[in-house]
Amino acid sequence: QQVEKRTESKYIMGEFPIYLAGNWVTTSSQLEVTYPYDGSVVAYTYQAGKQELDKAITKAQEAFYQLSSMPSFQRANILQHVASRLRENKEDIARTITLEAGKPIKDSRVEVDRAILTFTLAAEEAKRIHGEVVPLDLLPSGSNKMGIVRRFPIGPVAAISPFNFPLNLAAHKVAPAIAVGNPVVLKPPSKTPITWLKVARFFEETDLPEGALSVLPMDRNTGDLLVSDERIKLLTFTGSDVVGWELKKKAGKKNVILELGGNAGVVVDKDADIEHASRRLAYGSFAYAGQICISVQRIFVHKDIYEDLKAALVEQTGKLKVGDPLQEDTDVSPLIDNRALDRVESWVQEAVQKGAKVVTGGKRDGNIFEPTILENVPEDARVCSQEAFAPVVIISPVENFEDGLRAINRSRFGLQAGVFTNDISKATLAFNALEVGGVVVNDVPTFRVDNMPYGGVKDSGLGREGIRYAIEHMTEYKIMILPYD
Ligand code: NAD
Repeated sequence: QQVEKRTESKYIMGEFPIYLAGNWVTTSSQLEVTYPYDGSVVAYTYQAGKQELDKAITKAQEAFYQLSSMPSFQRANILQHVASRLRENKEDIARTITLEAGKPIKDSRVEVDRAILTFTLAAEEAKRIHGEVVPLDLLPSGSNKMGIVRRFPIGPVAAISPFNFPLNLAAHKVAPAIAVGNPVVLKPPSKTPITWLKVARFFEETDLPEGALSVLPMDRNTGDLLVSDERIKLLTFTGSDVVGWELKKKAGKKNVILELGGNAGVVVDKDADIEHASRRLAYGSFAYAGQICISVQRIFVHKDIYEDLKAALVEQTGKLKVGDPLQEDTDVSPLIDNRALDRVESWVQEAVQKGAKVVTGGKRDGNIFEPTILENVPEDARVCSQEAFAPVVIISPVENFEDGLRAINRSRFGLQAGVFTNDISKATLAFNALEVGGVVVNDVPTFRVDNMPYGGVKDSGLGREGIRYAIEHMTEYKIMILPYD
């Protein structure tokens, strides 16, 4: 199925100028976007250089006053319009996601539905930027004064998003920023820039002030300039931990939100429903070939049910449909590129050399890596200690539930975790003890609804997204002190 790079796909979508402060522009640096399943070119676009970036930031700064002083109903209408246009264009946008990210088409449709929710939630939150009255009579000097406190938008935002959810993860940055009145310069990933160039057309149909949104693919050097520019007041980054923490160092005085990777763990206790747990674990480990930041990577099973759970997981994994992302029933799709394939292949080999056993899978076929279950993996093997971001999961027996919790915590990451137990006191223990941003009970950690606080601890990140929670980072309190006598 592998075709030579640069062959034009039969699914070719055309050429897409980039969106610079209300204008569609081309540059001397052309970018080819390929379909990960066969490597064929599905679109052409352009990369912004230093000049385009500087213009976008200047225009964003100019648009700040206009956007932040716009009545909230107007900002809400803009976001509502984008939600409606996404609904009308659901199939085209879902197909675009599949063609540039290689995501199974049924999952791409779910991503569009989630982005509609993200924009709708942001439209609602735009009307709820409330404040409070603070008493100031705690000192004699304040005895006849009160404070009116409310949140104000902080200024132009730099948003950088990853390839695996081309639509919704950038929406989690742009939508709350516009909701509160912050202009945005979005750098979509070079692998998947087309989805948001299409979404920019929907913004263009609204009253959004010129300059309040730019969508600029760019290389890493230009990306560094965006991150370090002092006119930008917030960097919101979703991507790998290595890049995220590096960018934080370059961000200077600006606020920073980091939504990074993980190696999510699950404990399956001895009272768990094995059929339910194995079905959900097969989904959580292998959906979209494990290219989800909360994909299951490490499963710790009570020793009494280890063999039964393992057998059930192998059976459920065998039911998954592996192949072309455009097929309606595909569950497991290709990896994003050859680099990812080479990496996971070498990590699995390393684990085997260190004594791991391949329970199922382990091989690559073209751009597809088989759903792979490993056991007896030492904790220092990279497939355990690093983020696999591939369809590879490790299963290990533990003495008891608490040992499973300790094993989950033996990681430099901490995004979400899952615990399969029917005992509420054990679920509560997990909630208290796990060093993560979210604990999912009786299900896999591969779970997110777009209004919930979402983010990690340890190397997995800084701050939270989930519209209302992102708004907290995107606004700053200001107080007005009023005399009342
Ligand atoms: P990546 O870190 O390679 O790239 C993310 C973005 O950063 C891309 O737009 C990329 O072009 C850009 N980038 C890279 N270097 C840069 C630089 N020096 N300056 C400016 N921008 C730069 O990540 P990826 O491969 O696109 O995505 C996968 C990663 O994202 C995984 O680690 C995954 O766990 C993580 N992720 C996290 C979440 C979350 O919400 N926590 C969600 C999805 C994905």
